[in-house]
Amino acid sequence: MVQDNNLAQQIMKLGQLSEYTLVKHYDGPLGAVYFPEYTEFRLWSPSASQVELLIYDGYYGKLKRSHPMLYDEIESVFKYKIEGDCHGLTYNYRLTYLDGRQVVTVDPYAKAATVNGYRSVVVDLIQTNPDGWDKRMPEWETPEKTIIYEGHVRDLTIQAETNIRHKGKFLGLIEPDRVNTDGLAVGLDYLKELGITHLELLPIFDYATVDETHYHPNDYNWGYDPQNYNVPEGSYSTNPFDPMACIRELKMMILGLHQAGIRVIMDVVYNHVYAAENHPFHYTAPGYYFRYIQGNYTNGTGVGNDTASERTMMRKYIVDSVVYWAKEYHIDGFRFDLMGIHDVDTMNAVRQALDEVDPSIIILGEGWDLYTPEGVRGASQKYAPMMARIGQFNDGMREAIKGDDFNAESRGYINGAWYKEPLLASHIKGGVDFDHYLSPLQLIQYAEAHDNFTLYDKLKASNPHDSEEIREKRHMMASTIILISQGIPFIHAGQEFMRSKNGIRDSYNQPDEINQMDWKALSYRLKSIHLVRDLIALRKQEPLFTMKEYSDIAQKIRVVRKDYMIVHLEYTGTDYDLIVIINGQSNTLNVDIEPGDYTVKLYDNQVYLQDDGKVINVKKSVSIPMLTTLILKKFK
Ligand code: CA
Repeated sequence: MVQDNNLAQQIMKLGQLSEYTLVKHYDGPLGAVYFPEYTEFRLWSPSASQVELLIYDGYYGKLKRSHPMLYDEIESVFKYKIEGDCHGLTYNYRLTYLDGRQVVTVDPYAKAATVNGYRSVVVDLIQTNPDGWDKRMPEWETPEKTIIYEGHVRDLTIQAETNIRHKGKFLGLIEPDRVNTDGLAVGLDYLKELGITHLELLPIFDYATVDETHYHPNDYNWGYDPQNYNVPEGSYSTNPFDPMACIRELKMMILGLHQAGIRVIMDVVYNHVYAAENHPFHYTAPGYYFRYIQGNYTNGTGVGNDTASERTMMRKYIVDSVVYWAKEYHIDGFRFDLMGIHDVDTMNAVRQALDEVDPSIIILGEGWDLYTPEGVRGASQKYAPMMARIGQFNDGMREAIKGDDFNAESRGYINGAWYKEPLLASHIKGGVDFDHYLSPLQLIQYAEAHDNFTLYDKLKASNPHDSEEIREKRHMMASTIILISQGIPFIHAGQEFMRSKNGIRDSYNQPDEINQMDWKALSYRLKSIHLVRDLIALRKQEPLFTMKEYSDIAQKIRVVRKDYMIVHLEYTGTDYDLIVIINGQSNTLNVDIEPGDYTVKLYDNQVYLQDDGKVINVKKSVSIPMLTTLILKKFK
């Protein structure tokens, strides 16, 4: 132990991380392990010479007592057992280092916390279960039918102009019969009508920067500033002062969404923490959980520190955490923020561990090519072939559609850039031409996400002289492309009603005024909303848009044309064929096709779900209105 301490202290100074292989690791449960008869506290800290368990008087009272924890030489963890029912017991740890310095820290494995996450709380999780909370949803058996909708708890519920009662709260998301000022469904009913299969929520774990003690419209954050990874965010609770309320209410929200047939993907941000110097990772094992260069934090994430997933206990932490959320909260999927900072082996360990819970749990992430130390293979798109059943955000598709996201003026296919057609066709085919990914389902197909310019704002900047009518057409073309592409379509909340954030791209800490869903827009963007809703329904019934294997895609999709702003694809089915023609030109296009009867599925942004809905007889050619997509079905 003493040797380990010295080592940790030295490494903290030197940043020679490979030396950490000498530190003793631990493979069992950590944190406050609750049983009705007793609770055992377990802390892994290779750096402390002594640890005291601090017990407070209630959630917010003074320090009541402290217990010196015992160091278990075999398991190399500090332990302390308290007899009796400890549900609600509030605690922290006081660590003493070899040089006599002392720090007080929360438990890195805390499952509940006081307001703003400053103290850890023991919880009997059974007491937090709402009625009807017994098991996970059945396995998601059709991964190829996944349609992801990305939203933020507060954005979705906060706007004044709806009758949602629990504004900005978990519970606001499951209120039925909520409407905007024109009586149109908002919130839960709206999501149900849209038909999405998975709701991906921006961070719902405890993050640092929003003061949970009171609401203020300007005190806002997306939540990519992690504090307690295994505790729900308190500001989404109706009573942030009650550590049990946010757990129960999050479970109620998940249950309510599940009952509505919507699965929940959680955005997880293990790549960095908000304040490394004050984080329990730093306090319990200085120099261990983060990456360093010459004693300084590396900054591959661009947010000041990078966690070191390649190290045993950090990898264990990530795996333990996702398994906890999956089992305890019935989470159906995980979206890894800046996944490229993690290593390939960790992501595969996450996949394997979640497979043991439920193999249909979805994993996706931002596989950007970020700095990782030598010898650490970042979990980026480049290494996707080594990470089966882990999805990658396809920024290639995004940029082919609308241009460079960092540059508002830059253009892609929908806003008039030529020569993107071949690339766009390849992306629509789920990347089969790239000969890189293992499956089209590894590609998350999107045109807009929370940290992009919204499509609407982008189009306003890139094509400022467009009429509103033309802008809407370009916008709907983008949503159409996403919803007919092979892979997993991903829609940013409000994309379907042309959400705007007043041109602000990185709105992570902007007031509600900027970030909230403008539910009033439902009343004047019906055409686009119906298009997205109906394309979702069409996708669900059309196997030719949701092929699981590249071999099928290669065999069944033929590119007829990919030039002059035209992408013309033909799909060979068993009983019928499909023709898809995207007309990116600013005039009506006439295309010669084989004469005969065709069933129209999409024309002029109108979807026909029934096969007998609209049948046309083609003599020679079909015409496609400007900036729209045509889908025809021809029975054999
Ligand atoms: Ca918080």
